[in-house]
Amino acid sequence: MKVLVLNSGSSSLKFQMYKMENEKVLAKGIVERIGLDKPVLKYERHDGVKLQETIAVKNHDDALRLICQKLVDPEQGVMKSLCEVEAVGHRVVHGGEKVSQPVKVDEGVKAIIRDCCSLAPLHNPPNLSGIEACEHVFKGTPNVAVFDTAFHQTMPAESYLYAIPYEYYTKYGIRKYGFHGTSHKFVANSTAEFLKTPMEKLKLITCHLGNGCSVAAINGGNVLDTSMGLTPLMGLVMGTRCGDIDPGVLLHLSKLGMKTEEIDALLNKKSGILGVAGINSSDMRDLEHAVQEGKAQAKQAMDMFIHRLVFYVGAYHTLLGGADAVVFTGGIGENSEFVRGLIVPRLEAIGCRLDNAANHKAVRGKAGVISTPESTLKAVVMPTNEELMIARETVRVLRGA
Ligand code: ADP
Repeated sequence: MKVLVLNSGSSSLKFQMYKMENEKVLAKGIVERIGLDKPVLKYERHDGVKLQETIAVKNHDDALRLICQKLVDPEQGVMKSLCEVEAVGHRVVHGGEKVSQPVKVDEGVKAIIRDCCSLAPLHNPPNLSGIEACEHVFKGTPNVAVFDTAFHQTMPAESYLYAIPYEYYTKYGIRKYGFHGTSHKFVANSTAEFLKTPMEKLKLITCHLGNGCSVAAINGGNVLDTSMGLTPLMGLVMGTRCGDIDPGVLLHLSKLGMKTEEIDALLNKKSGILGVAGINSSDMRDLEHAVQEGKAQAKQAMDMFIHRLVFYVGAYHTLLGGADAVVFTGGIGENSEFVRGLIVPRLEAIGCRLDNAANHKAVRGKAGVISTPESTLKAVVMPTNEELMIARETVRVLRGA
């Protein structure tokens, strides 16, 4: 069974074609700069064949048609006909309160995605364009929407409500939704498998640390709380996002004469590591370098990153009434021995001790325990794979599970 996974952004369309019998990626790639000048298609086949072409595409329909041409190309493709694609799985960022599971797309689901555009204006419109492109190109092939917010829908009201007048929730849907749900769910499932313990019996604190960062407290497979909020701006210090901030700061900035769009850009694009570290980069590798070179402002940014993460892990440990494992994933969580080496020793008070040798040996793409055997709270490194999760969920929905 072949499943195409699409992640459609405002000017890009990422794809992975899976053979689900062995979960092998047959081909993957991206069309970038859709609607801009010099759009590019990058394509990579499982056997290492790679190509990059400048192409002419005006919209997501054009981009998808081009991807499909490559997939069935007699020389560079991976199948004879598009009919072999049994379903397309789509990453959709916001599903609001109406979806707590992946769903087969119909007019009602498209209306939900449209209704949530105001909550995710940068993501939901292109996500919908990706779905509509598939409806035009793959006539009759089912589309499945897998929502970033869905996994977090088990949060209780005391976690997701903001203490503002209740009608702002009922009238405008202002509440915490949480993001990165597909990744949190994937690593929670993988951790249960890795620890050979049923998910229902596990209490986990999953830390997705990439350009965007979030933490989730998961009790028996149900999210109890998560660090991102109405938008992905809340919570941890991130590459360019500030994370938690006194809302009074926004009022103050507004009184200083900043416009809404300026405040938006400041907090979303110019803050976090980029804003604090003084290294003109939001990349954790650059930050590590600068810290190792003894740059004081960079150390300040790193200290803030670690402090905020320790704060959330500690709080979630208490909320869960203790936990079995804290799980690190995402570009930073999976790759940075340095960052893990700063975080885990700060968790000793809740039973987690770093095994330095295990931390050093942890290999990218492989699960591993980096805490000592005596630790009552395990520290686990777990690779995430959102595309594979979307492919698996797509199959599950098709089978009616
Ligand atoms: P996204 O959130 O966009 O999916 P990723 O999960 O790929 O991003 O994470 C990107 C982050 O991972 C960047 O801050 C990058 O510096 C960091 N990263 C990637 N590799 C390493 C590494 N070897 N050491 C430290 N940080 C790394």
